[in-house]
Amino acid sequence: MASRDPVADLRRIAFLLERANEATYRVKAFRSAAAAVAKTPPDELAERAAAGTLAKLAGVGDVTARCVTESLAGEEPVYLRRLVSTEGSDLPAAATALREALRGDCHVHSDWSDGGSPIEEMALAAAELGHEYFVLTDHSPRLTVARGLTADRLRRQLDHVAKLNELMPDGFRILTGIEVDILEDGSLDQEDELLERLDVVVGSVHSKLRDESPRMTRRMVAALANPHLDILGHMTGRKVSAKGAGDAAHRAARTRPPSTFDLEKVLAAAIENGKAIEINSRPDRLDPPKRMLTVAVEAGCLFSIDTDAHAPGQLDWLEFGCERAALCDVPADRVVNTWTADGLVEWTRSHT
Ligand SMILES: [Zn+2]
Ligand SMILES: [Zn+2]
Repeated sequence: MASRDPVADLRRIAFLLERANEATYRVKAFRSAAAAVAKTPPDELAERAAAGTLAKLAGVGDVTARCVTESLAGEEPVYLRRLVSTEGSDLPAAATALREALRGDCHVHSDWSDGGSPIEEMALAAAELGHEYFVLTDHSPRLTVARGLTADRLRRQLDHVAKLNELMPDGFRILTGIEVDILEDGSLDQEDELLERLDVVVGSVHSKLRDESPRMTRRMVAALANPHLDILGHMTGRKVSAKGAGDAAHRAARTRPPSTFDLEKVLAAAIENGKAIEINSRPDRLDPPKRMLTVAVEAGCLFSIDTDAHAPGQLDWLEFGCERAALCDVPADRVVNTWTADGLVEWTRSHT
């Protein structure tokens, strides 16, 4: 039997574990093994597989060594086969249709802030999922716990992304962006000149989440009126479970009730300014709750169904958001990431 690509198999396993929200150390074991195997010449790999010494390579353990041996022998690793067989997705038809209509993701983190993987690893995984684009939205300076990017670091990131885009597979593009903190007075935590340059700006509240309703309402309405903001991220800030909290910013709190604010006023501000409300797909957020989402659909809002991914496997969480969106009858043409990258950027430029 022709041998398989052990690096691809190890990466696929890591992806599926992440997608299933498994512990980070398990995912890491497969990613480090993939890196170690990629560095080892094929002859040496074959010899080690035959002699049973693969696990002596730094970064490779017993479990990963077995996967590599199976892969080299042309068999689908048992570990991989088991993951694939349990992954079965039985999304309702409306959710599947919505998922298929999505061309990208507007909320993605990299290891420049509190994500676990480099931009190129995230981009490669997104391209493999069939995305046409994602918006890179690392955190802003005040969110120090999540290594928020200063203006200088963001400028450097923009140069880096421009170079990466030249190397991306055909039909995939990294759009520039930020998840900018909405400060207490509703202003945004980054220089105007930079916000202006970015393709997409997601704005989120990460502090004083328990503030009283009138102040929180004013804060959100002011942010939505800011011409730079395009998408309001995880609007209630609620946390529904500790699972999936793999990153510093999102691990700080375990569970959390939704913030209180005047929903009608906030939605009216979104509509008046042509901004989108995010449907955050993270299993620990599921934000906004369905009752609010239904009100937003009826009010006529635009939406963005995003993963808020902090690791490659989490890029596939879009279906969780689609499932809830479909339950609340969100129309596909009002979801900004069903649009092409050009269409999306044309929309964000229309209010800057
Ligand atoms: Zn956030
Ligand atoms: Zn985020």
